Amino acid sequence: MIKPITAGALALAITTTTMVGCKSGEQSTPDFDYTVDRFADIEVLRYQVPGFENLTLNQKLLIYYLTEAAISGRDILWDQNGKYNLALRDMLEQVYESYDGPKDDQQWQAFDKYVKQVWFGNGVHHHYSMDKFVPEFSREWFEGQLSKNDMAKDETLLRVIFDPTFMAKRVNQAEGADLIVTSANNLYEGVTQQEVEAYYNARKDTTDLTPISWGLNARVTKDADGNVVEQVYKVGGLYSDAISRIVELLNKASEYAENDGQREVIKKLVDFYTTGDLKDFDDYSIAWVDETDSQVDFINGFIESYGDPLGMTGAFESIVNFKDIPASKRTETISNNAEWFEQNSPVDPRFRKDKVKGVTAKVITAAILAGDSYPATPIGINLPNANWIRAAHGSKSVTIENITKAYDEASHGNGFNEEFVIDEETSKLLDDYLFITDNLHTDLHECLGHASGRLLPGVDPDALKAHGSTLEEARADLFALYYLADPKLLELGLLDNPDAYKAEYYKYMLNGLMTQLMRIEPGKDVEEAHMRNRKLICEWVYEKGKPENVVELVEKDGKHYVKINDYKRMRELFGELLGEIQRIKSEGDYEAGRDLVETYGVKVDQNLHKEVLDRYAKLNIAPYKGFVNPVYTLVTDDNGNPVDVTITYEEDYPTQMLRYSKQYKTLK
Ligand code: ZN
Repeated sequence: MIKPITAGALALAITTTTMVGCKSGEQSTPDFDYTVDRFADIEVLRYQVPGFENLTLNQKLLIYYLTEAAISGRDILWDQNGKYNLALRDMLEQVYESYDGPKDDQQWQAFDKYVKQVWFGNGVHHHYSMDKFVPEFSREWFEGQLSKNDMAKDETLLRVIFDPTFMAKRVNQAEGADLIVTSANNLYEGVTQQEVEAYYNARKDTTDLTPISWGLNARVTKDADGNVVEQVYKVGGLYSDAISRIVELLNKASEYAENDGQREVIKKLVDFYTTGDLKDFDDYSIAWVDETDSQVDFINGFIESYGDPLGMTGAFESIVNFKDIPASKRTETISNNAEWFEQNSPVDPRFRKDKVKGVTAKVITAAILAGDSYPATPIGINLPNANWIRAAHGSKSVTIENITKAYDEASHGNGFNEEFVIDEETSKLLDDYLFITDNLHTDLHECLGHASGRLLPGVDPDALKAHGSTLEEARADLFALYYLADPKLLELGLLDNPDAYKAEYYKYMLNGLMTQLMRIEPGKDVEEAHMRNRKLICEWVYEKGKPENVVELVEKDGKHYVKINDYKRMRELFGELLGEIQRIKSEGDYEAGRDLVETYGVKVDQNLHKEVLDRYAKLNIAPYKGFVNPVYTLVTDDNGNPVDVTITYEEDYPTQMLRYSKQYKTLK
């Protein structure tokens, strides 16, 4: 599972002076320009790939073909996100490129913003809120542009843009609704939630100890006779043209594999793409987890299921990366002590893992972000997702430090701390220790949190249903929060100050109680799983800590501030909640899980919300950030033999999007 950047982490201005542990050994260019574009609620950044030049030619070529394979899946995600997205993108880009009117025209500017939003969402819905974008240009103006270019006025596409009630939400999680019928994604067609659940329940064998990831690579619809059927993503199946191109490039990459183990991983992925058989996917996942000798690594496939209201179908995603060897010492230390952390956790021993299997952890440098990781991207990855593979083979956990670095650099001096942090002393604490404790939080969340605990025998891993993602993220966050304050981290040399953890505790509470609300529109509730998780944890601790005044919201000059009075007690409360959420997960206690989420994770205090939005608006910070990729160019000699791969960073946001749409068009 992936942890996207938290609002607070990216918004807090950090001037890190005290670095403990390891950071990338590579020097970054001092005058690198991180900001690329700014529109709506989005800031687009670029990231550096330090160390790429020092890789061997073989590694560079391997990365080159893997990045090509990554971007070649772009159209799959667009189509998964909505069945009209590709056609709509063609239409929008044609108008965008042919426009020759004044750039200061209001209609054009609204259109420019809309197209940039659609690119960012990989479709017509916001990548995070899942709501459809609202055009601020008129239908008349747009139809005028279509006429000018002799383009057809496709009624359906026009409705997608201009009718706010049509396909309003990509993923609907509202309790009680038919989540499939009311979600606008293209993972299901003409079927109800009940039909889909009946279809999979009839196939699931609850006694199977190594179940496949049902529905991961399929669109569910009905055949001519009205039977529910899967359309499988594979060569010769749904998305065949895109997948065939990916396979071709993976085979090319395989020629430059670093070793036989890595070659085998690529081969197994190609097998999976060819057969579409989810047993082949499990074989691939196991080979991928076991392969830890290579410096270059990648994910490419149908991975995370946040885009599916039932949490089954994986969105296409790819990240190509290589290990940051000096920085990885930090995560290796955590990983090597996984057993100690598991056995000392504040969780009922019945729900602990007897033996924590090799959680490999490393710090990586991303070389390309693609599919569901582009432009908005995670800062950490922990895969595979299948519970039984994690239990039997462990998982790979990574922190993407060139991305966290870019966030950090881009947030310097944005005024956030001055506005929201209660006093100088706390600001100083954040300046000194937030970068390292935030990175450690991610490491602990990914390396240990998701990997800890076990289900009691016979418990359905999907028992928590729509609340499963929120509770899983809460479990991982609480594991990290609890241990950040443990003296063990000082003993291991990961922190040098017993108070350092307070920086992350403060930021976490500030974010969960207040500042993450800047991402929510007025009047709306919290819906996204990671945000619900943070709100759940913070509101629960706030309430349970009231008798001892552990944390309070104090008012100064009409503004609210988070004030933490008892950090030690706060840690105990994190531990208590971790114990309870692990019990809920281990026992599959749906009712208790739902009650926690509904009581603490969803409802927004309207007055506080308004205050946060007002204060935040004055800072003019984009609540969401994403990235353009660097450009890799294959250099050949006179005989056409590859001699180098060069990397450049100059490409701007529209140029990259338009180029990708042309160069990597794999679906119609
Ligand atoms: Zn997570």
